[in-house]
Amino acid sequence: MGNENDYRDYNKAGAGYEHYSYPSPLYAVKDGMKVVDKNPFKKDGEWQDHSHLTISLHIILIDPRGNHVNIEVLSKAKDKVSADIKNTIKSRGFVKLRIPNKKVVAEIEETINELNIRVSVDTKDMKVYNGILDYPVYLLHHKGTARSTSDNLLHIITDKYGFKNDSSYEHADSVFRDNGLWEMEDYNGITVPSDTNHPQKICFIKTDILTNYRGDQDVVLANLIKHELGHAFGILRHYKGKQIMNDQADMGDAKLDFSKLNKADIQRDVFDRISIYKFQKSIQ
Ligand SMILES: [Zn+2]
Repeated sequence: MGNENDYRDYNKAGAGYEHYSYPSPLYAVKDGMKVVDKNPFKKDGEWQDHSHLTISLHIILIDPRGNHVNIEVLSKAKDKVSADIKNTIKSRGFVKLRIPNKKVVAEIEETINELNIRVSVDTKDMKVYNGILDYPVYLLHHKGTARSTSDNLLHIITDKYGFKNDSSYEHADSVFRDNGLWEMEDYNGITVPSDTNHPQKICFIKTDILTNYRGDQDVVLANLIKHELGHAFGILRHYKGKQIMNDQADMGDAKLDFSKLNKADIQRDVFDRISIYKFQKSIQ
């Protein structure tokens, strides 16, 4: 579909950096970000030296009460997510599928090549991960009523992450309460992506449905996590075929991967976030 990524059309004018439609409305910060669309790398007309910055993308698998997921399954899934996401973000040659400008592609590839990517497990849930390059993934187990699980999620969304009285909160509220999604076996998770009012995002995975799929549970869990991360990386729709962003795909398939175009989308999205991060640092 031609219009699937209109909201991130980088380069309508066909020129270089100066014409980025940036930052994307998806996670534009409400105040103070207007200057960014002139050039995320320049301050007072000068290129900024960001070489002293170590920039990390952090995926956090949060299992608050510890024993939901078998520790070995979780550990293996973590390693798989780590390897596959690193491979997706760091591989060269994909971003050019979405961007025609060679100079821009080179800049993006160089920037993401320097990125530090880590995946960790948090069993205490004491910290809020709301940095622009933080990707918290809650691993939740459906126990008791759908309502109690739903309330738990809404608590996390509102109290911990501050999605309060806005469209994301209302969306999550309607999704969980009205549709009874935690009772639907084929519903694996949900992601509240970034939007105009908040750069943070959260993924939730139902971990009680791992056994619904054939195949190793660590493979299923890793695939479910990668699917929701895809949404957190700005892919807001599903695709057909054998790929991770097909919600009907076999999540027990160890070979399931992002499509080439989705890899390009993810690289662009991560680059956007690095640019915002650098800009935020440059004005501190
Ligand atoms: Zn999905």
